[in-house]
Amino acid sequence: MKNFNDYETVIGLEIHAQMKTQSKMFCGCPTQFGEEPNTQTCPVCIGMPGVLPVINKLALEFTIKTGLALGSSISGFSRFARKNYFYPDLPKGYQISQFELPICEGGFVMLNVDGVERRINLTRIHMEEDAGKNIHEGAGNFSYVDLNRAGVPLMEIVSEPDIRTPKEAAVYVRKLRTILRYLDVCDGNMEEGSLRCDANVSIRPQGTEALGVKTEIKNINSFRFIEKALEYEIERQKRVLGEGGRIIQETRLWNTSAGITESMRSKEEAHDYRYFPEPDLVPLVVDEAWIAEIRKQIPELPDEKIQRLVGDYKLPAYDADLLAAEKQTAMWFEETVSLGANPKDVSNWMMGELMRLLNEKGVAIEASLITPTHLYGLIRLVADGTINLKTAKTVFEDMFSSGKTAAQLVKEKGLVQISDVGELEKAVEAVITENPNETARYKAGETKLTGFFVGEVMKKTKGKANPKAVNEILRRLLG
Ligand code: ADP
Ligand code: ZN
Ligand code: MG
Repeated sequence: MKNFNDYETVIGLEIHAQMKTQSKMFCGCPTQFGEEPNTQTCPVCIGMPGVLPVINKLALEFTIKTGLALGSSISGFSRFARKNYFYPDLPKGYQISQFELPICEGGFVMLNVDGVERRINLTRIHMEEDAGKNIHEGAGNFSYVDLNRAGVPLMEIVSEPDIRTPKEAAVYVRKLRTILRYLDVCDGNMEEGSLRCDANVSIRPQGTEALGVKTEIKNINSFRFIEKALEYEIERQKRVLGEGGRIIQETRLWNTSAGITESMRSKEEAHDYRYFPEPDLVPLVVDEAWIAEIRKQIPELPDEKIQRLVGDYKLPAYDADLLAAEKQTAMWFEETVSLGANPKDVSNWMMGELMRLLNEKGVAIEASLITPTHLYGLIRLVADGTINLKTAKTVFEDMFSSGKTAAQLVKEKGLVQISDVGELEKAVEAVITENPNETARYKAGETKLTGFFVGEVMKKTKGKANPKAVNEILRRLLG
């Protein structure tokens, strides 16, 4: 058997992103997810004879915007094409897509993978319409067809085979998702299928140029599975080659429950799509002036945002990275800082308590009851010594669930920190008398018992003691 480790992995991804338009690609039907089956359809999107498609201008704008953001060149002249195949979820018998003349060519996505910068080039971005959905559950020996999704506008973003590890593939999809969400052109919801990923993968002997035979994995619907499916598939290919076999070009399906990829169809069974220019649509001509206008609408993108957060607020790159993962999160951060809070304090609260609670409760930051003003108020109470950090954490949780301000909660619950030396001394003295053993051990040199004493004092004061003052008193009385 050959040494498996002598192979290099080559991955190229095809991402289908559902565009955030109100209406479909070629008709006026709504695109709302989760509606009653076949309630968002019309003669155009169910493919009745004699109907004519009309291009959704916003979908075109979104695709151009994405291309510009990713450094693609925008074609002044492009064309729709028919991709012909038969399947029940495609009543027309063809999908309107783009083929030889896509709207965007080239471009790239920069990645930071474990501290290493990687550039993944794009082949193209084109527009197409989605197909419907076959439903097998609850249909007995039959299948239902829901055509609500038929005709929904998609962007297909095709990468060059530049990706080298499953991890890189996952980072790439995450980065693209973040950019699409910044651009507000796709909601990026993988569970609802707004972002779908087909992964092409092959292996080749280390140091060689020629591409190996690839397989394409479909049906990957979460970030976790991108990595898992690719890891499995790479091991499978290595095993096949290691045993003297050969890889056949095929489409494979990721089986989520079994954690394996399974053959779906081989190249021989692959469709010949008989692409030809869509005769019902004239070629697409976009002028420079419009492209320039779209370019102006591109917001600050994640990488620039991260740089600015580091530069303007002196945040560690780690913090900036986390805060910039969502546009709303970064806005929330900047708003809190603009009120006068220390940036690193804000970042710590956001990365810790806020994100934890938002995740736990499944709340979006913009819908959270805690606002930047709330957090600013809390940070001030800690800074001026009104409450200690420990109390602040419980106040934070309370603010999160009640929407009350920190000042309100501190007053209502009597949480003001005890800094009065006389009062604290009493508590410390009591703890010392109650714990003669620990006191003796401390005096014999076991100074790490400080934590124990501070803990006891905290218990006695219901967590309200000023920890700094307690430490000083302890050192004085025990020392
Ligand atoms: P197909 O004709 O099967 O659709 P394409 O050449 O259009 O193949 O490429 C589809 C995707 O597969 C692209 O993302 C591309 O980078 C990737 N790809 C192509 N060849 C390979 C290969 N040998 N190994 C890994 N990925 C590949
Ligand atoms: Zn329609
Ligand atoms: Mg292709």
